[in-house]
Amino acid sequence: MRFDIITIFPEMFEPVLNESIVKRARQKKKVAIRVHDLRAYTKDKHKKVDDRPFGGGPGMVMTPQPFFDAVKRIKGKRKGKVILMSPSGKRLTQKLARDLAKDKNLIVLCGHYEGVDERVREKLVDESISIGDYVLTGGEIPAMVLIDCVTRLLPGVVGKEASLTDESFEGGLLEYPHYTRPANFRGAKVPDVLLSGNHLAIKKWRQEQSRRVTRRNRPDLIKNS
Ligand code: SAM
Repeated sequence: MRFDIITIFPEMFEPVLNESIVKRARQKKKVAIRVHDLRAYTKDKHKKVDDRPFGGGPGMVMTPQPFFDAVKRIKGKRKGKVILMSPSGKRLTQKLARDLAKDKNLIVLCGHYEGVDERVREKLVDESISIGDYVLTGGEIPAMVLIDCVTRLLPGVVGKEASLTDESFEGGLLEYPHYTRPANFRGAKVPDVLLSGNHLAIKKWRQEQSRRVTRRNRPDLIKNS
């Protein structure tokens, strides 16, 4: 799978996407990540990529031309779905990440300022995606979130496939709590059942805990399941 990211802050990506599982996935050639500087595509002699909004109002809006030219250049080499990171997009969920993990090429546009000229979304973008109901300064961190959660779903990226299927959201609920050594940490003990060796009882306990954590933190998931 390949991600092409279009951004005005290309240096932000390498420190984050060149660590841990994503780094290994890149080394094993399970994923390729290319970062493109939007300013390299602007026809403005001062490398400007934004302008004042028609109709007035605060802030600046990212102009369409550099995005159109950058996407045209990338698509000239390989076709791919174009995604705009946007707080008004469809919410990123584990299910959406799984669907995106089936794509071969994703082109990810990062907005800034007040956002991106609407004609980019209308004419260029296949899907707008939000990482949650809050507003960040720019689309770079959301793009990294998207890349991380899609990459770890690619076959052969995370060691034990089982560790993916047991995770939060996969069965519609949040994950059960985990414990490791020591069995007694400063008086706080690991639940007896986990030390019992009784796999059936452990499975049952984990299912109950999953429901308990979900009821407490995300009751909406129970209603929707
Ligand atoms: N004026 C916009 C609004 O009210 O929806 C917010 C623009 S935000 C300051 C600048 C850029 O950050 C957006 O164009 C988008 O690319 C990115 N961004 C901010 N929050 C995001 C979120 N929750 N999910 C995805 N992208 C986000």
